[in-house]
Amino acid sequence: MTRLLHRQTASALPVAVGGEGIELIDKTGKRYIDASGGAAVSCLGHGHPDVRAALHRQLDQIAYAHTGFFTTDAAEALAERLINDAPEGLSHVYLVSGGSEAVEAALKMARQYFVEKGEPQRRHIIARRQSYHGNTLGALAAGGNEWRRRQFQPLLIETHHVDPCFAYRHQGPTESDADYAARAARSLEDKVAELGGENVIAFVAETVVGATAGAVPPVADYFKRIREICDRHGILLILDEVMCGMGRTGTLHAVEQEGIRPDLMTVAKGLGGGYQPIGAVLLGGHIHDAFAQGSGFFQHGHTYMGHPMAAAAALAVQQVIARDNLLANVRAMGTVLHDRLTAQFGNHPNVGDIRGRGLFRAIELVADRGTKAPFDPTLKLNARIKKAAMAEGLMVYPMGGTIDGARGDHVLLAPPFIVTEDQVGTIVDRLARAVEAGLQEIAAMP
Ligand code: PMP
Repeated sequence: MTRLLHRQTASALPVAVGGEGIELIDKTGKRYIDASGGAAVSCLGHGHPDVRAALHRQLDQIAYAHTGFFTTDAAEALAERLINDAPEGLSHVYLVSGGSEAVEAALKMARQYFVEKGEPQRRHIIARRQSYHGNTLGALAAGGNEWRRRQFQPLLIETHHVDPCFAYRHQGPTESDADYAARAARSLEDKVAELGGENVIAFVAETVVGATAGAVPPVADYFKRIREICDRHGILLILDEVMCGMGRTGTLHAVEQEGIRPDLMTVAKGLGGGYQPIGAVLLGGHIHDAFAQGSGFFQHGHTYMGHPMAAAAALAVQQVIARDNLLANVRAMGTVLHDRLTAQFGNHPNVGDIRGRGLFRAIELVADRGTKAPFDPTLKLNARIKKAAMAEGLMVYPMGGTIDGARGDHVLLAPPFIVTEDQVGTIVDRLARAVEAGLQEIAAMP
């Protein structure tokens, strides 16, 4: 009997008792390759000695000091490091305990920025359909995932959703990338025209879409169009890199591959690699200055913000990634993973798309490859694949069966940055068996 309210109440979960490199170990001694990094979290794998040592040192020095009274070396050093490596224009860091908190803080920063600047009429947040920004009420309101939102709709602040940039699902067969980028961005332009540019606070988007649609990269120049629209109307651009950031796509920030600068950026999962709960907002100098010259502070705060243990873990994780040149491995193994997936699933009748960047990859499963028709969501193909994968000793992150019907089930892969070529091979072999098991279960249904 469990007294924990679990994420899934129906299934009995294995009990994790150990972790070593890219593997997790359960109470029975069974090992699972963490091919999803949990939910794109465990970038360094499990039990890394340098991170453990850093945590011990921090615990011996100071475990907690409220940020209303003190700062700490760990939090200051992490902020310094993040800004040194950040896209130009981002000047300060706000440390919180996870992705949703980071998104909440970014949304409030954007609103306060305009209040400080004497534009309090700006009240609209625009985001995209098929996006996920967190489960707290503000972040959930920004997200465009209907399945997650629908029960809570009356409690969510009013937000507006425009088209995603999702080539496999929405780009026309003869439409060029440039034309599709312009068309997808025009959806924002149209919404801004409807609301009045002077009334809009911010546009929020995941640079590479994660949980809702599965490692969907933008087409070339989409974000350049978006940046232009935001600039023309003085709208802030918030990039949510909670899942795709901190090295996952092969560059420290996914936005580096888009050639633009955000006004605010959220990061979390890979920041601390799961060793501690931590998230951050990186904010532009203009936003910091508006607070400094206005109220003097950002009207927000959490008890555990800037937690020294979390900051020490994140600092150690980021130091190891840089020291061991792991982003080069993300890029190299990302290509290997893509090639192996293509060799395995490229001609599979139920795999419609293989996509992603770096070690952030997905396959999309469809009932009909020609029409791209998704599987009936009630068949729960993604859950069947997850179960079969766990039996194989493989953690993958399958989602799907969406009620908006715009896409099919997908399986997201986000292995630790330390993964080797042999391990990538094993991951794809096990995934292939799990996918077949899931499809066979469905085929055997009456
Ligand atoms: N934004 C994005 C893009 C995410 O993927 C997630 C988590 N999946 C969140 C925000 C929320 O982060 P957390 O679960 O740490 O609150």
